[in-house]
Amino acid sequence: MIIIKTPQEIEILREGGKRLATVLHKVKDMVAPGISTQDLDDYAFKLIKEFGDEPAFLNYSPEGADFPFPASLCVSVNDEVVHGIPNKNKILKEGDIVSIDLGLKHKGLFTDMAMTVPVGIISPSSQKLLEVTEKALQIGINEAIEGNRVGDIGYAIESFVRPHKYGIVEVLSGHGVGKAIHEDPYIPNFGKKGTGAKLIKRMVVAIEPMLNNGTKNVTIGKDGYTFKTADGKKSAHFEHTILITDDEPEILTRLH
Ligand code: MG
Repeated sequence: MIIIKTPQEIEILREGGKRLATVLHKVKDMVAPGISTQDLDDYAFKLIKEFGDEPAFLNYSPEGADFPFPASLCVSVNDEVVHGIPNKNKILKEGDIVSIDLGLKHKGLFTDMAMTVPVGIISPSSQKLLEVTEKALQIGINEAIEGNRVGDIGYAIESFVRPHKYGIVEVLSGHGVGKAIHEDPYIPNFGKKGTGAKLIKRMVVAIEPMLNNGTKNVTIGKDGYTFKTADGKKSAHFEHTILITDDEPEILTRLH
């Protein structure tokens, strides 16, 4: 069921999104060679608590998982696509790319955001992967307007990405968000124009293209969480929480 948010709920989501953007950008600024993925998670947790909010992913139990997610921040390095578990022994090194994905619960309502960050100097091909993935997110956001359909978002992302020959991850997608971290509808990063659920004013959605510098196929690790590219090539991920309006889409997780 698609949940339309009330004006009061939208005000809370707006504030939550602003806080989430603040936290994630601070975590991004900490990324450097020698930092562990656990350091990033510890910092995200501390900043969220300072705001008086809750990390949405900590102890989240997805269907079928053996144990709840043990961290606030998903940290996915290089060929890890999403849902990497932070670890104090996993140290970032020059040339890595690291995807940081964070959900925040403010006054009972959820926002979701992710970005992929370079560690020091990265290769031109990694740089291009990051740029194209971030642009793909913006292309998708541009379609998130009242009267469009979910398929219009996927179609726009897919059409933009195709000439770059990147693999678009298909088994993971964007989603409605707000009352829960994952709500209807699913928002795939591929699709057909004019198909799928209609976008209505006051819907809130997370759009999140995941692009691989190779095959679209992914595998899931023994931990039951970490998705990796099947061919070991690098992957990037950018995500914003978006409010559908009768005008331009509003990026709730924009940095103010
Ligand atoms: Mg998400």
